[in-house]
Amino acid sequence: MKRIFTLLFLAATIIINAQERCSTTAHTQKLMDINPEYAKARAKVNSQTEQWIKDHPNHNEKTIITIPVVVHVVWNTTAENIPDSRVLEQIEILNNDYRRTNIDAINTPNVWQGIAADCEIEFCLATADPNGNPTTGIDRVQTTETSFGMSGDPVMSAASGGANPWDQDNYLNIWVCDLGSGLLGYASPPSGWPNPNDGVVIGYKYFGLSGSNGGAYRYGRTATHEVGHWLNLDHVWGGGWGSCGDDNVSDTPTQEQENYSCPGYPHNPNSCSTTNPDGDMFMNYMDYTNDACMNLFTNGQKTRMLAAINQYRPNMLNHDLCAGTVGVSETLNQKRELIKIVDVLGRTTTNQPTNTPLFYIYNDGSVEKKIIVE
Ligand code: ZN
Ligand code: CA
Repeated sequence: MKRIFTLLFLAATIIINAQERCSTTAHTQKLMDINPEYAKARAKVNSQTEQWIKDHPNHNEKTIITIPVVVHVVWNTTAENIPDSRVLEQIEILNNDYRRTNIDAINTPNVWQGIAADCEIEFCLATADPNGNPTTGIDRVQTTETSFGMSGDPVMSAASGGANPWDQDNYLNIWVCDLGSGLLGYASPPSGWPNPNDGVVIGYKYFGLSGSNGGAYRYGRTATHEVGHWLNLDHVWGGGWGSCGDDNVSDTPTQEQENYSCPGYPHNPNSCSTTNPDGDMFMNYMDYTNDACMNLFTNGQKTRMLAAINQYRPNMLNHDLCAGTVGVSETLNQKRELIKIVDVLGRTTTNQPTNTPLFYIYNDGSVEKKIIVE
């Protein structure tokens, strides 16, 4: 009996080691090889970003940007057809991580607490589809494909068994599918070129709170990381591997290479010929550590994301795709009160049936879409 248990444990360990955190670097390279226009546009992004930051010294003024999301659940097996509750969990995780309301924010080492950012970016499941019809923001597509690779983005096209994107200028498209080969996810960084393969792809085992199937990546931070790429963040160690590269963010320490598992603090101090007693910021969402180890974006990363939205994804700033609220809303320092609850047809309701989207309207003008799931 004891022998069998040991063998099973070894098998599980091997599977976890075969996982690949993110292939955005390889995916971006491939996109640039296929589309020279994308390569040209991407080459300008860093200087355009620097210029935008210089031109907008007040970019940090108090506004919330709400990004409308469509989640394409492309499924072959029932396990891949993840329930709405998992999608809602993932949206909540994104909101907590980007607003720094994540409960593990206290785990950020003291030395970096002062630069840990409330990015003031929120996410909603879109309430209107590209034709203006009401939607849950969840697009389910059954497929005969048993898994999707990264190359050529087959999951992004109905013709190859996936789901077509919704207008990428207006929505953050997230595809959830079986990515095969242990890959957790990938994304396309922005530029001035309209990329028909724009969006984020996440393996279904790593989306939302996925339980033991997700292993060390079960707390939904693959999406936090990949949406960071979609908003123009680089890995904290920069471009290459083991090369002490630059992530174009000044408040993240220069780092030799990616980190896995969960190191102790301080980790790898004074690397890359620097004087840096604090070592790597391995708990940054843009490293490769376990989900439970990650807990911050920095102010510098926030600035880079705001520059990306303003320059390359401006439709996120002002839209009508989140329950009728505009994308940018003022932050009010008052406690809000619920005024009424309405259904998708705008009728006021008092009962709260399950699996039905309802809109909660508050006295500060904010609206939340909620679905009670059994
Ligand atoms: Zn990555
Ligand atoms: Ca840096």
